[in-house]
Amino acid sequence: MLEVEFTHDGSRCTPELFIAAPEKYEGLIVCIECRKRAWFTKGFTTVKGVERTACFGSHHEDGCNRASSILEAEDMEGIETDENGDNKSADIFINLDKTKHGQIEKSVDNDKTDAPCTNSDLI
Ligand SMILES: [Zn+2]
Repeated sequence: MLEVEFTHDGSRCTPELFIAAPEKYEGLIVCIECRKRAWFTKGFTTVKGVERTACFGSHHEDGCNRASSILEAEDMEGIETDENGDNKSADIFINLDKTKHGQIEKSVDNDKTDAPCTNSDLI
């Protein structure tokens, strides 16, 4: 989520405000809806090169409308992060398979280039 409540005075806190004064907001931000403790997540680039913008994560109550981001789930527990890591690995394997298919097509071309070799057999 991109907006949390600063419990000290009830004001709203955005990633921009948090970056400007992290020591002020750290540990004092909660989900606006369910008021569960929230934390700031820096922007980063995933293994796939997908850029994630800075935002806030939280252990939302069930049914909280703010609990929609996959990124928040990734930040909840290390175990879940590992599971996501496995998913990324699976994607990489799929990509490798595609690459292999491409190589198979090239090998077909190689078979054609082998044709002159049969001519040498004739000689
Ligand atoms: Zn919430």
